[in-house]
Amino acid sequence: MNHKYICFIKLTVERYLKGYEHGDSMIKITAKFSRIKFLMERSLLKNGISGVYNMLLYGLTLKLNKDKIMGEPITVQLEPTGKCNLRCTMCKRTYYDEQRIQDLTFDRYLKIIGQFKYLNNIIFTGLGEGIMNKDFFRIVDHAKNVKKVDFIFVISNGTLLNREVCEKFVNSGIDKVAISFDGATKETYNSIRAGADYDKVLANIKTLVETKKRYGSKIIVHLGFVLMKKNAHQMKEIVNLAHGLGVSTLSIGVVNPNFTGKEELHSALAIKVDDKAVEEAEALAKSYGLGFEFARDVPKGVCGYPWQGPFITADGYIATCCVNPDPRTFNFGNVLETPYSELKNSRQVVSFRKHLASGGVPPNCTGCPLAGVHN
Ligand code: SF4
Ligand code: SF4
Repeated sequence: MNHKYICFIKLTVERYLKGYEHGDSMIKITAKFSRIKFLMERSLLKNGISGVYNMLLYGLTLKLNKDKIMGEPITVQLEPTGKCNLRCTMCKRTYYDEQRIQDLTFDRYLKIIGQFKYLNNIIFTGLGEGIMNKDFFRIVDHAKNVKKVDFIFVISNGTLLNREVCEKFVNSGIDKVAISFDGATKETYNSIRAGADYDKVLANIKTLVETKKRYGSKIIVHLGFVLMKKNAHQMKEIVNLAHGLGVSTLSIGVVNPNFTGKEELHSALAIKVDDKAVEEAEALAKSYGLGFEFARDVPKGVCGYPWQGPFITADGYIATCCVNPDPRTFNFGNVLETPYSELKNSRQVVSFRKHLASGGVPPNCTGCPLAGVHN
């Protein structure tokens, strides 16, 4: 599954909602305006006037950070499965005493997705490798062709991308796939992503890029690199590797304490970011025309997760976000048992939002760089 450095997903969601912003302010305004126009037009087309009204209410919620969500989310994060074939050193799943191995069955998916009338984006993430769910591509097909979701984003560890799976990725309507790749050399990669083979995953990514070219597909193939002591010296190498592979974008993020789960593990892995090395990696990426993101690009402000849309586990629980997907630790209720409309502004979640918005750090968010920075 995925690297889960939440800043990257936060960036993706925010850029999707706000429009991808770069360049001078006129370009920013134009990009924002075009994005809002696009979302409004899509809402009108899909849901008529009520869709546009919902977009306005939802947009206001995001803008004002109100404790109670107005309208309905247009983005949902779904965990396709709790199964994973790796034991990555920085992932708390590796250290669970008892694994959560349930899948998001097609039936569960239908029950969940039916509760979101205005859905426009789905991010398939969580603590598992989505492709291990046998219903995964059936779910994607339904989301794209029946539910008419505009943007489908999948995070994968890349180990299962054989020729057949690459064809499915390219032709199923997935808009973006992020492959976690935390080492620029075989030794480093294999020691971090235990159970994966560097050469095989590299070959898989090449197959995906070739398949994309063969079909003239617009799918964005993204490489994700989580910065740790073991690989911090490889920032330039990973840029070279990403360029050589022909992927569209690369992100480098810091290892999230919530993702590692244990404080002592996080201290053993985390490293102080060398800004100069980041700048050099960024300049190198720019010289190649490779899209590049670093976690520090995330705008400072309160974490947006409890407002933007729920993270829902394979068995229907609403968790705080993708770095805390284990409902055994904490959850806001189960949408397979209680309708989301009753859970979205429950006392529990409203108090959680208030806590975050006031600059506090709720117990389940300890150590997360996005908590406690509200200004
Ligand atoms: S062990 Fe699995 S879920 Fe955890 S980071 Fe690795 S691939 Fe993802
Ligand atoms: S602040 Fe909490 S809810 Fe937000 S991303 Fe961090 S851990 Fe998740």
